[in-house]
Amino acid sequence: MIKTTDYANLGFECRETHANYISYYKDGKWDEGMMKSDDCIKISAFSPALHYGQEAFEGLKAYRRKDGKVQLFRPDMNAKRLQDSCKRLLMPDVPVEKFIDAVEQVVKANEDLVPPYGSGATLYVRPFIIGVGRNLGVRPAKEYIFSVICSPVGSYFKGGLAPNKFVITEYDRAAPNGTGNSKVGGNYAASLYPHHMAKEMGYADCIYLDPLTHTKIDEVGAANFFGITYDNKFITPKSSSILPSITKKSLMYLAEHELGLEVVEGEVYIDKLDIFKEAGACGTAAVISPIGRIDMGEKHQIFFSETEVGPTVRKLYDLLTGIQYGDIEGPEGWTRIVK
Ligand SMILES: *Cc1c(COP(=O)(O)O)cnc(C)c1O
Repeated sequence: MIKTTDYANLGFECRETHANYISYYKDGKWDEGMMKSDDCIKISAFSPALHYGQEAFEGLKAYRRKDGKVQLFRPDMNAKRLQDSCKRLLMPDVPVEKFIDAVEQVVKANEDLVPPYGSGATLYVRPFIIGVGRNLGVRPAKEYIFSVICSPVGSYFKGGLAPNKFVITEYDRAAPNGTGNSKVGGNYAASLYPHHMAKEMGYADCIYLDPLTHTKIDEVGAANFFGITYDNKFITPKSSSILPSITKKSLMYLAEHELGLEVVEGEVYIDKLDIFKEAGACGTAAVISPIGRIDMGEKHQIFFSETEVGPTVRKLYDLLTGIQYGDIEGPEGWTRIVK
């Protein structure tokens, strides 16, 4: 399948895998779920997921440790966040145990596809839930599918831990009291065009501002923003329309407890970006991507360097990935070996 030498250039794409998981919700309850080998799902063309975006998803990774074992990073947090997304879209909860069990079944069935330790590549796992069944009016489905698929992936942004440049977009991915804080497909439909425009202009992605005032940073594409100020604060936006990133929450903890930084969830005004000596985008897919430069109209801001990674971002990256790959012991309960 994938040659070991190819892992460095794997990118973020789907590859063939052995098996995936599917479970059906009917008459008010989930079935046991099962593994299957093909990645097709047969549903009614009237399914609300297809017309009204009744869909939520998660994304987490399985990491190959130095000792050959495979581990997950905080999967309980993904399970809980999916429950929050489901509530917002009136979909039934997937119990935390069912979620973790499904993820582990999929990782085990594709164990040989978890890339080797040190390759920088991982097995990306994508749980999702869709509203299915015949339904024409705008109302929640009566039946649901919860599925978990996966694919070996390399780095999300080209170049791994190298600074990227981003551009501020005038478009919004979410509304102030919309679904920006839920991990749902609809937010992504709204992001395709601005993302495409940013790529066309040669940027890694676009930066979304808060949809109400367009004066503060909300999100960096599909990742959260954080910055390190000259007076050694770790600042990340507080907003009702950003997706609460598990990577960000983990970095907030590490910044405070391991690096001794003051951690602030607050406003990140685009006309005050010069308080930051370093900045980064964070998420499961992006891991930490240093932000080298942000362009906004005539103006721009450079953070640390357009080519070099800053020392604090580097330290956070080493700590986070050290824990994720099992080289460093993280806080209690952060990792879970797949047995
Ligand atoms: C998933 C996601 C993130 C990152 O969240 P993690 O839990 O760190 O993977 C950030 N922003 C958006 C819009 C997302 O969908």
